[in-house]
Amino acid sequence: MTVREKLTRLRGRIALLGLVGGLLFLVGLVAGTADPEKLAFAIAGSVVLLVAAFELAFGLRCPRCDARIGPAMSWPPARWLGRSKIAECPSCHIDLDSEARG
Ligand SMILES: [Zn+2]
Repeated sequence: MTVREKLTRLRGRIALLGLVGGLLFLVGLVAGTADPEKLAFAIAGSVVLLVAAFELAFGLRCPRCDARIGPAMSWPPARWLGRSKIAECPSCHIDLDSEARG
């Protein structure tokens, strides 16, 4: 498995967590209109969503130098500007398509 595949897999898990948080937020918001006590689900969902966003920003780290590369890999404007893939870690310049150790 390459470094990129490893980080993409982790990013997918974090995105799934964010999706669950977002859905929980929406369900809590809709259910909370009828029963205000169910707004607790919306609060819980927003916390899960925030945790996922935090993990996306700070949790994706280079396996060699431990630098945060989540923003470089996940920041949507980079994709919109046509820079969909970073080739290497911005810090230690390890090729992301090389085999990951461990
Ligand atoms: Zn690195």
